[in-house]
Amino acid sequence: MTSGPSNFELFVQCLSEPMKKLYLSSPGCPPSLRGSRERIQRRKLSNKLQHLVDGKAEYKTGTQMDETDFKVLITNVALHIFTSFPPDLQSVTYRAMQNNPNFAGTYCSRLPISTMAQICSNIPDYAKELLQRFLSIDKDAQIRELCFPVINDYIQAATQNDGSCDLCQRNRFKLTKHHLVPKAMHERAFKEGWHDEQKLSQIAWLCRACHEVVHKKITPIMLAKKYGSIDLLLKRSDIREWTKTVGRVVRRIR
Ligand SMILES: [Zn+2]
Ligand SMILES: [Zn+2]
Repeated sequence: MTSGPSNFELFVQCLSEPMKKLYLSSPGCPPSLRGSRERIQRRKLSNKLQHLVDGKAEYKTGTQMDETDFKVLITNVALHIFTSFPPDLQSVTYRAMQNNPNFAGTYCSRLPISTMAQICSNIPDYAKELLQRFLSIDKDAQIRELCFPVINDYIQAATQNDGSCDLCQRNRFKLTKHHLVPKAMHERAFKEGWHDEQKLSQIAWLCRACHEVVHKKITPIMLAKKYGSIDLLLKRSDIREWTKTVGRVVRRIR
């Protein structure tokens, strides 16, 4: 299995574009942008920053940030914000989301404003200072405006499925969407108080073979009541046996 970018690298990626936009629109930041030549300069800088973000910049001037400066700035701001996150948010993965219902409840793909505000209230002064100095944003509201969508993007990027089946872990088969609480049971599950609304929207990605086995062995009502997570499914010996067997099949083909 190939390992992708780390969560921190993902966060840097998510932060780069919005920071670039702010940098371009900040009035006080690059001194050479003031005055009558502002528009031309701004356009030049805009092209330059596009190249910076694409990683192919060569353009340099004495007064403006060059590629390295800009990367250092982004990385620094990202580092100080990222390390202020709760540890489980720093290490969030697709698997963690699948296997821990509490976790999925806290860090669903669109965070509630209150959770977001709580996370942003921990951003250290040093990161705020950098944002103020280079991007001319200083009010907490402006910082939240920058960070809210970035944090949502980060969670989405970090919890994306890596292409392998949630049950058998094989990664060369087309995946199908499995509602952990079957859709037909949603109304009843909610009425009877088995799950809250957030839980009802949770899905898993299964290869076709595993998906068929799950529905053949377990009735919708049992899925809804007792087996609404990958962990719970794997607690059943028949499902465990199955995933072991298909794992062996793959090894033999290789
Ligand atoms: Zn599978
Ligand atoms: Zn299904």
